[in-house]
Amino acid sequence: MIKVGINGYGTIGKRVADAVSLQDDMEVAGVTKTKPDFEAENAIKKGYRLYSAISERLEVFEEKGLKVEGTLGELLERCDVVVDCSPGGYGAKNKEIYERYGVKAVFQGGEKKNIAPVSFVASCNYEKAVGADFIRVVSCNTTGMSRLIRIVTSLVDIGRVRATVVRRAVDPKDDRKGPINAITPNPVSLPSHHGVDVQSVMPDVDIVTTAVKVPTTLMHLHSMNFDLKGDMREQDLIEVLRNDARMMLIHSEDGFTSTARIIEYAREVRDRGDIWENCVWEDSISVYGGELYLFQAIHQEAIVVPENVDAIRALMGFEDGDASIEKTNRTLGL
Ligand code: NAD
Repeated sequence: MIKVGINGYGTIGKRVADAVSLQDDMEVAGVTKTKPDFEAENAIKKGYRLYSAISERLEVFEEKGLKVEGTLGELLERCDVVVDCSPGGYGAKNKEIYERYGVKAVFQGGEKKNIAPVSFVASCNYEKAVGADFIRVVSCNTTGMSRLIRIVTSLVDIGRVRATVVRRAVDPKDDRKGPINAITPNPVSLPSHHGVDVQSVMPDVDIVTTAVKVPTTLMHLHSMNFDLKGDMREQDLIEVLRNDARMMLIHSEDGFTSTARIIEYAREVRDRGDIWENCVWEDSISVYGGELYLFQAIHQEAIVVPENVDAIRALMGFEDGDASIEKTNRTLGL
């Protein structure tokens, strides 16, 4: 049994904890919080051992009457792997602590790529991560684009990939920043970092991206364009996407006319309304003059969760990436 600690029980951390607890080869050794809020209370109700991420704040939990097992250091003593789900940039500081305790770590996409030797998307480069001490699971947008590029390249050689990322402003729970009453080029100076980040997973892909932020919290949307170096029929891509568990083909005729409709569907059929797959509009898939165009939507809070589970197996030396992906998919119900 792989003992997994989750450092930072926020948007990503709580989802990773639940996904880990579904695996028969892993268990959640404990989760950390910085504050004794409702999320800390929920973690205890779910049966997770709660630890204080910051040692000086241990008594704040006790004052609130919340049972904490100890500090981050005590959690690390009980772990084989820690999944760092702290806010972007904090992972780099936490890495020193993980090194001191000799614990392998999975970092998230908010960290710089040099935090780990491997920037990871399971279907693209699982084998590179086997046995590593540190892995960075890339961001939601990079995960979504990398998965899709890998699938298209399994059918046909590609040249340039160009993509526009229409970004949700903040996550639904964020009450500090709020949606914006604007369409914000983000960044204004081009290109955006997303394409560069895809190259941290697949260095040979010629990709350039631009990004704008829009006043929504639900999902990101990618407008993707591929230069094809050979023939590929739209139907061939549709078949492959239909058979890939981490892809969800949707159609506007079925009512999927927007990201709002996708989330509404997921709220009916999934715990928390989480969508771990890329949602690709089947009716957007078009090949014109040697180029492929399509739209996909990405549920930013959920898409990296399966990759985190596979990253844990890779760190622990489990060599069969396809078997890991299949197991993760099955346990999540994909
Ligand atoms: P979040 O703010 O929802 O959660 C972070 C949690 O970490 C909070 O519970 C916070 O209290 C806790 N924390 C604060 N300081 C800490 C510290 N020093 N040590 C440990 N924990 C600490 O953030 P999130 O959205 O879950 O993001 C976590 C990481 O995942 C970031 O790198 C982010 O870029 C990445 N990511 C986020 C999304 C997304 O859309 N939310 C998608 C993909 C990747």
